[in-house]
Amino acid sequence: MSIAEMEIKKFERGDCEQDKVFYQAMEEVIYSIAPLLESDEKYKQHAVLERLVVPDRIFKFKVVWMDDNQNINVNTGYRVQFNNSLGPYKGGLRFHPTVNEGILKFLGFEQILKNSLTGLPIGGGKGGSDFDPKGKSDFEVMKFCSAFMTELHKYIGPRIDIPAGDIGVGAREIGYLFGEYKKITSSYEGVLTGKPFMFGGSLMRPEATGYGTVYFTEKMLELEGQESLEGKICTVSGAGNVALHAIEKLQHLGAIPVSCTDSRGTIHDPRGVDLELLKDLKLNKRVSLESYVESHPEANYISVDDYPEGAHAVWDIPCYAAFPCATQNELNDLDAQNLIVNGCVSVSEGANMPSTPKAVNDFLSHKICFAPAKAANSGGVAVSEFEMSQNASMSKWSFEKVDEKLKVIMQQVCTRVALTAKDYGVDGNYVDGANIAGFKRVADAMIAEGI
Ligand code: NAP
Repeated sequence: MSIAEMEIKKFERGDCEQDKVFYQAMEEVIYSIAPLLESDEKYKQHAVLERLVVPDRIFKFKVVWMDDNQNINVNTGYRVQFNNSLGPYKGGLRFHPTVNEGILKFLGFEQILKNSLTGLPIGGGKGGSDFDPKGKSDFEVMKFCSAFMTELHKYIGPRIDIPAGDIGVGAREIGYLFGEYKKITSSYEGVLTGKPFMFGGSLMRPEATGYGTVYFTEKMLELEGQESLEGKICTVSGAGNVALHAIEKLQHLGAIPVSCTDSRGTIHDPRGVDLELLKDLKLNKRVSLESYVESHPEANYISVDDYPEGAHAVWDIPCYAAFPCATQNELNDLDAQNLIVNGCVSVSEGANMPSTPKAVNDFLSHKICFAPAKAANSGGVAVSEFEMSQNASMSKWSFEKVDEKLKVIMQQVCTRVALTAKDYGVDGNYVDGANIAGFKRVADAMIAEGI
């Protein structure tokens, strides 16, 4: 039995369906860090892995709010404070009907290693609710955010835990959450990141994750001796915060992003996505992507119902580089095969764990340049930390300054991951490189801090 298998055996799975994605993430990390555990006894002696995979604490609470029809609604809220060895807990809030404790444990666990990889002083956490903001009025979203913060404020603070946005939580929701926190505590402090600029947000926070993923990819292609993105066809999934800004940065670099998706379908626009139109549909009108073809009849809309079950239309579009930026497990082994057969050279995860384990194995065995989420999408949390620094020093940095710092940090993360992979004999494997580098920094801090 390998050291990784022995370690995995220690963690009782139980039958909990909810914890599936958490175990998926944990197993990937254990396989990656096996060479480190083997080469340095101290990690086993200090039971670092056993301690790391259990969150420090999980808060679960009831959220009661009234909708526009005066109906009383009940949702569940969560905050998972996973590990604060490197700094205060830091990680987003997700509002989506699929949210449960298992998903938040998976996201929180990944966040520890992601935050560690940035080299910044931030620990890992995650939170959210099964509330669905889709189809709700602004007033209803405000009511829900207020009720959610009535409970959450007890557990967070600028030196304790600083939540940010994630799926379903953008500047609007962060604004309402911040307003309620201020009302309850009478304290104007940097307790949330992703705030609108006018009350303490950092310039470029909305752009950070998408831009960062593209900066990471540029560097990875350079290190791996591949051609740059300029003039290349790229596919992107999602049409939210991460996807929109990945598309934007790709366009800045002269690449041609030709797709986007939402949960109902895919747009393939061979001439390149019309970003202004897409932003208008998704950020202002908040409508389905189907409306895109009303303005661009030459583009193709493929509904999820019209595509054979199992694979996803967006990954069947030939491309040089692919950017899954929607949600977890949205790219499976069938999709990976389609990308490989169609000549794709690189895949960069803007979303958290969008590729299934089988898809990742296919990419690695076919020597596709593969940028895993915890490294490739760490730009968002890096700029969140810049927001914390600006709030603490009551300063405002220019867009250019934040952009430059983001670019440097993504290049550093990429180089750190590539060099770690080389040091541990898995040259070119950015999954193992990211897991080992991220784990090592947090594990060393845990050992230094004692039990
Ligand atoms: P978002 O603004 O809510 O957008 C998510 C997008 O993905 C929406 O367009 C959504 O469409 C689409 N989508 C959801 N499920 C889908 C599916 N099964 N197939 C195709 N499209 C689907 O969220 P986001 O902030 O961009 O986050 C996207 C991903 O990036 C998540 O995994 C998140 O954890 C990760 N991430 C985000 C940040 C950040 O700074 N925001 C940072 C790091 C990682 P519908 O509107 O139809 O649901």
